[in-house]
Amino acid sequence: MGFWSRRKGVTDDIKETPDNCLNKYEEGKPVLPVEEPEKSTKKLKIPLNKTTSDVKYILKTIFFPCPICSEINTVDLSELDPIMGGETMCVHCQVVLHIPGGYLTHSEVPKLKVYAGLPVAVRKFPLFYWNHPVINDLEQQGITRIIIQYGLWGFCQRCHHQFSPAVLINLPHTSGEIVDYRSLSSEEMNEMKSLRAGCCPYCSHRILLVIISDVPHYVISASENLAHRWEED
Ligand SMILES: [Zn+2]
Ligand SMILES: [Zn+2]
Repeated sequence: MGFWSRRKGVTDDIKETPDNCLNKYEEGKPVLPVEEPEKSTKKLKIPLNKTTSDVKYILKTIFFPCPICSEINTVDLSELDPIMGGETMCVHCQVVLHIPGGYLTHSEVPKLKVYAGLPVAVRKFPLFYWNHPVINDLEQQGITRIIIQYGLWGFCQRCHHQFSPAVLINLPHTSGEIVDYRSLSSEEMNEMKSLRAGCCPYCSHRILLVIISDVPHYVISASENLAHRWEED
């Protein structure tokens, strides 16, 4: 989809972790599984993603006002995956947008929304994530792991590099917390180290654009078939 070509060239130029993003990960630390924070802790009130459900169809295209700048965006339905939907950028204000696949398949349309990215400081991401009502809801249903496949998108606000949900959900609350690096690829490990120090590994920007969306029922019922898609390039 257009979004990917629009952001191309930004991440390609900048590969090295910048010096000003100090790496606080210590090699000698023992590796243990990450523990989820206490479920009984008081939930913080956090800002939620801005959304729009004002989505109209013209033939094979949908159009909707950007939840941030209200300018009209159009998306060709052929660019959407029936389950995963698609991500694009507002052509006017460049915010990241998530469009659920139900708009293509006409599933659960009255409940669907287009989501706009919310700026969240890298360091505040764990606090944001673990206090998010959608995540609390998935926890109560016992299906938190679905978030690896659907419902969480995180991009660097400046270079638009997309971080994998596996990296984001494993970011520890405090710099002293121990992280299990074994489940991560070497690229993800590198990203984790930089994000732990509070910044993007590619451009050292300190703010993410995050989307946490409701998980539609058609995604939950398809989730068993989704695992392989996640590995597709
Ligand atoms: Zn916009
Ligand atoms: Zn960046």
